Amino acid sequence: MGIIQALRGTRDILPEEVGYWQWVESVARDILNVAAYQEIRTPIFELTALFERGIGEATDVVGKEMYTFNSRGENPYSITLRPEGTAGVVRSYIENHLDVKGGIQRLWYMGPMFRYEAPQAGRQRQFHQLGVEVLGSADSRADAELIAIATDILQTLGLKNLHLYINSVGSPEDRQSYRQALVDYLTPYKEELDPDSQVRLERNPLRILDSKDKRTQAIVEDAPSIVNYLGTESRRYFEQVKARLTDLGIAYELNPRLVRGLDYYTHLAFEIVSDDLGAQATVCGGGRYDGLVAELGGPSTPAVGWAMGLERLIILLQQLQQPPAKTLDFYVVSRGEAAESQALKLATQLRRIGFSVELDLSGSAFKKQFARADKSGAVACLILGDEEAANQTVKLKWMATKEQNAIAQVELLAKTDELRRQLDTAGSYKL
Ligand code: ATP
Ligand code: MG
Repeated sequence: MGIIQALRGTRDILPEEVGYWQWVESVARDILNVAAYQEIRTPIFELTALFERGIGEATDVVGKEMYTFNSRGENPYSITLRPEGTAGVVRSYIENHLDVKGGIQRLWYMGPMFRYEAPQAGRQRQFHQLGVEVLGSADSRADAELIAIATDILQTLGLKNLHLYINSVGSPEDRQSYRQALVDYLTPYKEELDPDSQVRLERNPLRILDSKDKRTQAIVEDAPSIVNYLGTESRRYFEQVKARLTDLGIAYELNPRLVRGLDYYTHLAFEIVSDDLGAQATVCGGGRYDGLVAELGGPSTPAVGWAMGLERLIILLQQLQQPPAKTLDFYVVSRGEAAESQALKLATQLRRIGFSVELDLSGSAFKKQFARADKSGAVACLILGDEEAANQTVKLKWMATKEQNAIAQVELLAKTDELRRQLDTAGSYKL
């Protein structure tokens, strides 16, 4: 009988790697907390119609990347594993009347997303996104605040060689006239475009600007630029966003080809791209979607958001060899029946007063237990043998200096502050 393996495009996040994930998650949580964003958790599957309407049928995601299946029961309906987070958040916002309950909503989410794509480095079928959405504000400060949060998260993680690209896709009217100009320009080249772009020419021409095909890119090079189709109000808005970014000391580059090909996107579109990721280089993408809430049947509500691909962030952190700090205060070794039960008790008591403690459960020879203590990364080792058990003492050995001394167990438990100080000065250990 063969072994069952994880599905293509999915992977396990093993304990040796999970420290990176927990680090990213806690940095993001802290930064979002201090900016008064609240977490929202929506279901991992939704009605297929939500994504068809919310993402747009002419997009790659809806057209060919969704995991869709029928529900069970008498009247089966179509269900899809969420390929992104915004549609579900907006559905929830409408369904739960969050607009009425709290005015402007600042929300964030984190979790797995599912897309049927060709797996490669930085591209999986189950991947994870951190996303934020601000619903109910048409103020350019919301756009700038969101971008600042994204850059703060990336900077706090120590990531470098990142570029922020921004563009304006204007109002729906601006886009309509730009769309026409683009179609007029591209139609004579139709036969030379890649097959995907030929289809998009009718259904979603702005998306052609995004094509990865070399020949299409060369044609697009001379296409009209959206910048020249922005109305006065759109220009003013975009200038405001740029001024606010400059005010905040956030560097950006303009990229007039950066579009998000959906009808409900308006004004700001942006991406944060890394130099160190090869082909899958975009770590964060976002923009304004003033039309989406209404499109999904809610009250007309301006909104802006972004999503970050966590796998790509973690690849970057691993490249930088920037491991999260792991601390273990004590590794407890013991041998002999009395010593072993005292060790369990001591470990439990130390944990209750806030120390991190790993208890060796092997029952093997001291030598083997010491070898594991060395590997554990603990700052100090606590040793209990027959003699210590008889005297209710414990040997405390500092791993860095190998110094050791015996101390009464009650004394160890009583000298909490002193112990904490000593552990801290002995230094934390890196994974
Ligand atoms: P790409 O051009 O890389 O396919 P996208 O435009 O489809 O990206 P979005 O839908 O904007 O991506 O999602 C935001 C972020 O989520 C991306 O910038 C990327 O970091 C991450 N992401 C998207 N798809 C995947 C995937 N299949 N595997 C891993 N990360 C992904
Ligand atoms: Mg994609």
